[in-house]
Amino acid sequence: MSGLLEVTGLTAGYGGVRVLHGIDIAVGENEIVAVLGANGAGKTTLLRALSGTVRSSGEVAFAGRSLAGTSAARIARGGLGHVPQGRGTFTDLTVEENVRLGVISRPASTRGQADGDVERIYETFPVLREMRRRPAGALSGGQQQMLALSRALLARPRLLLIDEPSLGLAPLTSADMFSVLARLRDEWSLSVLLAEQNARASLKVADRGVVLARGRVVASAPAAELAADEGLRAAYLGES
Ligand code: ATP
Repeated sequence: MSGLLEVTGLTAGYGGVRVLHGIDIAVGENEIVAVLGANGAGKTTLLRALSGTVRSSGEVAFAGRSLAGTSAARIARGGLGHVPQGRGTFTDLTVEENVRLGVISRPASTRGQADGDVERIYETFPVLREMRRRPAGALSGGQQQMLALSRALLARPRLLLIDEPSLGLAPLTSADMFSVLARLRDEWSLSVLLAEQNARASLKVADRGVVLARGRVVASAPAAELAADEGLRAAYLGES
């Protein structure tokens, strides 16, 4: 497996407080990796450190190049997209204006294909086409999550970091969200690093899972293996 993202000894924190204590993690081409862990384990901080929105040290190589000292904007333009928790929707802009904001982070060579990509997005999420002239604030929670994903896709990422896509969604909607991720991986040739508290659902679409506890990796294994490990789930994921 070729490592699209290779992370070694990543540390990060807020002010003087260290939250991540030497994380090793890798994501291959076309792979979905779920980062699991209880509240406060450090999942969000890991995604922020990778997208350059929280300071970190350690080695991060993306598509064979080191990201050390690279600004968040450059990281995004280089193909590493981040869909943060809370989704960052501009509620006064229309749905389509929100989607098109993703163009800003797009490689210049692909700007001409943006209209075609918006069309592909509407094929995947027909409800966004129906709502395209409405203010984004009119969307439901699940639809806003689709919008946040769509905006990130318009930047043409090779790897998407997605923070808790199922947060606040009803169980059925959240199952849809995970199957959409699997579909996007195939149709957009994406890799996905997914931070989730919902281990059961995310391991169904993930190829591999990594469990964090107090800022350290405590398990890393194929998704099916983690899903079957009841002891691990009880110890680190708050499930029984
Ligand atoms: P959650 O599912 O609640 O988002 P998480 O696994 O994503 O949890 P993080 O949000 O990365 O965990 O938090 C890890 C630790 O860092 C926690 O102890 C949290 O209190 C702390 N932390 C997170 N954000 C900040 C911040 N902006 N300033 C200071 N400490 C923070």
